[in-house]
Amino acid sequence: MGDCLFCKIINKELEGSIVYEDEQICAFRDKFPDAPVHVLVVPKKHIESLGHATQEDAALLSYLQFKIAEVAKIIGVADEGYRVITNVGENGRQSVKHLHYHILGGKKLAIRIEPKE
Ligand code: AMP
Repeated sequence: MGDCLFCKIINKELEGSIVYEDEQICAFRDKFPDAPVHVLVVPKKHIESLGHATQEDAALLSYLQFKIAEVAKIIGVADEGYRVITNVGENGRQSVKHLHYHILGGKKLAIRIEPKE
């Protein structure tokens, strides 16, 4: 997709700190980390968000989830634990419209993203 930030990182048109890639996915460090270790795992196929995936993407989504655990090992957070998040749309505060999963770790994270009301 022409002006998609993550497509540009995947296609090496923009510099990214890539920690893992294969034919289907790419994982790179978040430029503005929210935790000591913060990596984004994305499909190379441009899918706007989890909400835009179709039945055709089922195998890719499964592969992504499986690979997230492998990337967690590569970046050194697997043993102590980590959090995986994907934001969807406006209320989810998704800022980059290319499906991505945040892997957050490197410290004991806050219990909740938002306090209960
Ligand atoms: P989200 O808010 O869920 O859409 O997440 C988008 C993430 O992309 C944010 O955590 C940003 O810090 C991160 N980000 C923005 N620009 C870049 C970039 N050029 N390279 C790596 N990560 C980025």
